[in-house]
Amino acid sequence: MSLRDLPSVDELLRELESFDGVPRALLTNEIRSVLAEQRSALKHNAAAGTHDSISSLVIARLERLRSSSLKRVINATGVVLHTNLGRAPLPSFAPISGYSNLEYDLATGKRGKRDSHLAPLLEGLLGKPAIVVNNNAAAVYLVLNELAEGGEVVVSRGELIEIGDGFRIPDIMAHSGALLREVGTTNRTRIDDYEHAISDRTRLILRVHPSNFHLSGFTARPALGELAALGQRRNIPVYEDLGSGCLVDLREQGINEPLVAESLAAGMNVVSFSCDKLLGGPQAGIIAGDAVLIERIRRNPMYRAFRVDKLIIQSLEVTLQHLLFENWREIPALRMIRASAEQLRQRAERVSQALTGIPHQVRESSSVIGGGSTPNEVIPTSIVELIVDDATECDRRLRSNKVPVIARIEKKRIVLDLRTVFGEDEAELVQAVRCAVAPNRT
Ligand SMILES: *Cc1c(COP(=O)(O)O)cnc(C)c1O
Repeated sequence: MSLRDLPSVDELLRELESFDGVPRALLTNEIRSVLAEQRSALKHNAAAGTHDSISSLVIARLERLRSSSLKRVINATGVVLHTNLGRAPLPSFAPISGYSNLEYDLATGKRGKRDSHLAPLLEGLLGKPAIVVNNNAAAVYLVLNELAEGGEVVVSRGELIEIGDGFRIPDIMAHSGALLREVGTTNRTRIDDYEHAISDRTRLILRVHPSNFHLSGFTARPALGELAALGQRRNIPVYEDLGSGCLVDLREQGINEPLVAESLAAGMNVVSFSCDKLLGGPQAGIIAGDAVLIERIRRNPMYRAFRVDKLIIQSLEVTLQHLLFENWREIPALRMIRASAEQLRQRAERVSQALTGIPHQVRESSSVIGGGSTPNEVIPTSIVELIVDDATECDRRLRSNKVPVIARIEKKRIVLDLRTVFGEDEAELVQAVRCAVAPNRT
C-alpha cells in the first residue's frame, strides 16, 4: 500500500461510527493516530497495513482503553512480596464506594479526624501513638524533615542504602533539609563512632534496616539498646527506619526480621515502616513512637501532602484488625509465609495429578520472601516443574491467559510454586498450564 491508498479519516469514521458507546472525538483521535503511524511506517519503507487491518487496529486500541489495565494475576513465582505484583497481596475487603464518615464524628455530628479510624488499632498493636502516610519513603522524609531540618543526622556508613527505584537514604536526607553525618565504616560501626560524631548541630540518630542486602563476615553495629541509651544521655532522639514492619514473629518460619515491638521496647523514640511488606496490607507507611515527637511530625505541613486516602484507610483498618485479633489466616502474605513445606508438597502433588499427560515433575525448592527482605530469607517449598521445549514461549502463553499466570523460569523450565497461589486459583492455574503447553503437543 502507498501513502495515497491509505483510507481517509472520514472513510474510517463512517465505517466505525456504529462502534458501540465510543464518543466521536475519541474515535477521531484514535483513527488519526493510527493513520499517522501508518504514514510514518510507509515513509520508513516499512509495510503498512491493509484497509481492514487499519480499522481492526483502531478497534483494538479502543478495546484496550475500555478494558482494565490493572488486572488480577496468579502469582506462581513463590515470591510472597513481589515488587512487580503489588508487594503484599491485599486482604479481602468490600470497598465503600459512596460516602463515608471519613472526617465526620457520628457521635457529635461535628467534624472528625481521618486519623481516628486507625489510631486505636495502632495504639493496640504498638502501644504507642502512630500516624499513617502514603508509604515508608514519605515517612522517612517526614521524620527527617520535622526532626532534623537544618541540623545533622548521625548514621552508620553501613546503612546508607538504596531500596530500589531511586530511594536512597542520602538523597532523601538531602531533600529533607537534614545534613548527613556518616560514621564508622561500611562493615563496622561502633557506639563510640556515634558518640564522637555528636555535636551541638546533631538533631537525630538514625538507624536503617539494611533490608535488601546482607553484610556478613567481619561486621559490627551497636545494639538498639546502646543507641537508645546514647540518645537519652545526649538528649537526641533515635529513629529507626525498619523497612518491613514485621508485627508478627515469623522466626519459627525461619524469617529473622526485626519486630516493630522490639525496636520500640529497646527505646527507639521513633520508628517507621511499610504496610505492604511483612505487615501484609496496602501501600502505606506508619510512623510510631514518643507522643510528643509523633505530634510534631503530624503537624508538619507536608503531612497533608502525604496523608492516605479513604480506600487505604479502609484496607489498612481491615489488615490491622486481623493483626490485632491474630486472624493471621486472613492476611494472605502471612498465611502464605506460614504455609508448611508439607502443606505445599500436598498442594504441588494435587496440581501434579491434575496435569496428567503434561511432562512435569514435583520437587523440593525454596520460596523467596522478597519485597526488601534480605536475599537470604528463603523458606522451603515444593514446586511443579514443567518440562517444555520452549520455556520462554510457554511463559508468554501463561502470561496471556485470561487471568495471567506469572511463573518463574529456572534452567529453561517453567517453575510453579504454589505458596503464592491462592487455593481458589488452583483450577484456573491448571487450566492455564494446559492451554499454554497443549499447542506444542498437537
Ligand atoms: C522498603 C523500604 C523503604 C521504602 O518503603 P516504601 O514503603 O516502599 O516507600 C524505606 N526504607 C527501608 C529500610 C525499606 O526496606
